[in-house]
Amino acid sequence: MAAQIIDGKEVAKITYKQIKARTAALREQGIIPGLTVIIVGENPASQTYVASKEKRALKLGWNGQVIRLPENATQQELCEVIKTLNLDDSVDGILVQLPLPKHINELEVLKCIDPEKDVDGFHIVNSGKLFAGLESFVPCTPKGIMKLIDSTGVEIEGKNAVVIGRSLIVGKPAFLLLSARNATVTLCHSKTENLAEFTRSADIVVAAIGKPNFVTADMIKPGAVVIDVGINRLPDGQLCGDVDFESVKEVAGHLTPVPGGVGQMTIAMLMENTVISAEARLAGRDRKTDASVLDGTRHKA
Ligand code: NAD
Repeated sequence: MAAQIIDGKEVAKITYKQIKARTAALREQGIIPGLTVIIVGENPASQTYVASKEKRALKLGWNGQVIRLPENATQQELCEVIKTLNLDDSVDGILVQLPLPKHINELEVLKCIDPEKDVDGFHIVNSGKLFAGLESFVPCTPKGIMKLIDSTGVEIEGKNAVVIGRSLIVGKPAFLLLSARNATVTLCHSKTENLAEFTRSADIVVAAIGKPNFVTADMIKPGAVVIDVGINRLPDGQLCGDVDFESVKEVAGHLTPVPGGVGQMTIAMLMENTVISAEARLAGRDRKTDASVLDGTRHKA
């Protein structure tokens, strides 16, 4: 029987509806979520991603801002911009669009972001919290992957899951999130021997490799949930994932398409992280209010 296709657009739509309601509640308290994206240089793919993020923030009625720095901006200049945003109370989320030009050390730049505004979840404090199972900003793509798996209604706990790819952005956090939900997770990568033996025993497969149509039907257990993270451009200009959609859909139970699957969720999760940050700003203000009540001025009156 052919797999049920997981509709990323529909899951993202539900998320945006929830974000709109949370935004309205914040507005009533005088808070407008603020997201600032910084882009360095002219990378065309990055320009497109940044434009989509800005458009979505503005569509939600937020303060969406893009700061464009020239290709030859120094690491210090970039960090100075970030530090100013860290101190700006109207900014809830700061995102540095990756990749950065080669002369800039990405890890050092990400460290400049206030972890409380790190809505991409790449700051080592947030990675560490995720590792320790503490509340943190979770990187957007793996967070979206979890929502898509949940949308199938398939129980994660106790299942065998295989994540292919161990990047900091997708594979490793997906491994941690699945593990936190009590799946038995195997993290496979370019040096894994007999990859198909692992994937064939998996109830959930997450493919984040960057190789077109790499995962084929013979690698999939009948009925498995298959999440295709890959975005690959074929020579004819068409987009395709890391999973051979046509063959795998005949074996899997649930499968994400490319486009229309994980890609739809990444920006939605960025917006969700930003609204969480704006809510934390509100809670912080409340705490300050409480503190002023407790500072003795009331008792003196
Ligand atoms: P990456 O290049 O950082 O990592 C790729 C991983 O694949 C590596 O860990 C490597 O070990 C593994 N790998 C490579 N060849 C392999 C093989 N033969 N067998 C098993 N594992 C192998 O890539 P990434 O940043 O994790 O992205 C992966 C894919 O996901 C890319 O196509 C990227 O465009 C896409 N992506 C999509 C989104 C989205 O929003 N949909 C977000 C991020 C990345």
